[in-house]
Amino acid sequence: TWGQIREGLINRVGRNNYTTWIEPLKLSQLRNGVALFEVPTSFFGDWVQRNYADHIRNHLVTSGAPVERLEFLVGAENGAVRSVAAKPTAAPRAPVRARAAAEDDLPGAPLDARFTFDSFVVGKPNELAHAAARRVAEGGPVTFNPLFLYGGVGLGKTHLMHAIAHELRERQPELRVLYLSAEQFMYRFIQALRDKQVMDFKSLFRSVDVLMVDDVQFIAGKDSTQEEFFHTFNALVDQNKQIIISADRAPGEIRDLEDRIKSRLQCGLVVDLHPTDYELRLGILQQKAEFYRGQYRGLTISQGVLEFLAHRITTNVRVLEGALTRLFAFASLVGREITLDLAQDCLADILRASDRKLTIEEIQRKVAEHYNVRLSDLIGPKRLRTIARPRQVAMYLAKQLTARSLPEIGRRFGGRDHTTIMHGVRKIEELAATDSQLADDLQLLKRLLQG
Ligand code: ADP
Ligand code: MG
Repeated sequence: TWGQIREGLINRVGRNNYTTWIEPLKLSQLRNGVALFEVPTSFFGDWVQRNYADHIRNHLVTSGAPVERLEFLVGAENGAVRSVAAKPTAAPRAPVRARAAAEDDLPGAPLDARFTFDSFVVGKPNELAHAAARRVAEGGPVTFNPLFLYGGVGLGKTHLMHAIAHELRERQPELRVLYLSAEQFMYRFIQALRDKQVMDFKSLFRSVDVLMVDDVQFIAGKDSTQEEFFHTFNALVDQNKQIIISADRAPGEIRDLEDRIKSRLQCGLVVDLHPTDYELRLGILQQKAEFYRGQYRGLTISQGVLEFLAHRITTNVRVLEGALTRLFAFASLVGREITLDLAQDCLADILRASDRKLTIEEIQRKVAEHYNVRLSDLIGPKRLRTIARPRQVAMYLAKQLTARSLPEIGRRFGGRDHTTIMHGVRKIEELAATDSQLADDLQLLKRLLQG
């Protein structure tokens, strides 16, 4: 039961937070991948959505409940309940799960009503992805198929996909638009296999006009799901139906994805969302702050504090948003003005994490994982080419991405001499100049490590 499951969250969120935010949650429904919780106030729901939703969801999933998202309802007298938006917007919102008639039988994921083009802030790092998404959302003749969006976590892939879906549904309600995560795709497929309804599954997925699959890297290594995805993909492309895919990296960089799928994914338009820059972060903060000013009447936040946040929190947009939410919630709770001091106080943990320096060990782990070698081998004495090369890559990245000296790096590589490290670094520099595969690897690893 939820009562037992939630106990497991104590360790994740800490006893205090658990008592304040988790214990009062009443699980009132679990259906179609949506866990519906009853909460005492809309502020409460908002706070939990922002700060604990991922923990709760992951925890439910590991406990065997296939939950994709959480929703919160304010419990009221007389059994009447009011829905809480995680973050209300000024514009009237359609109920999150309302669908056009054409989609009643589609097994998609609910769309987040907040993820629209209006609420998407465009800057240099995402302007191409945004333009491509806009174009597809116009719903004209299919020009690029698929549209493949990729980029690090929290850079707006899901936001853009939902925005496309909203726009298409508005412009052409008769279109059958199906949005779901790759994880859900797999889940549905396995369910169909189990229930011997694969034919239904196939005909359903082949009957849509627009298919959107989010986080496609998830199906890498999952053989039968990949196979089915490939056939679905081809069937739709043959019918000239629009496909939109997202992933955390470029098609060619997804390991354990069949080559024929990679090449299929590459044959449309591939655009990436770059890490945010200062201007974009500030723009996003300004937009969200505007919204919060309306929500928490009387509370204001100065441009100075926003600039401070845009400077200091560079990890991803989700963290940035979380910081702002917490700031407003905290200030309103304690009835204080939002000052720089308050921000530093209230966000100490986030600021610390954001400042965090990359360690050599993290680099080694990531490189070992990327090349599929053991961490102990990467550091150890083996001279096999298949290990020595990744080792040099790790040395190179350690030199490039940390402030450590060569002797220090040598010590972390099983006590190697600084000249060995220097040799490794040079070797990689040389090779990368001509070996484009290696150059790509380096670029990917840097992105994965720096977020
Ligand atoms: P991804 O799917 O790439 O991991 P999301 O689309 O879930 O990232 O975005 C994470 C959060 O950041 C969302 O709340 C989203 O609304 C917000 N966000 C990301 N980019 C932007 C942007 N350019 N403008 C406004 N909000 C953004
Ligand atoms: Mg996403």
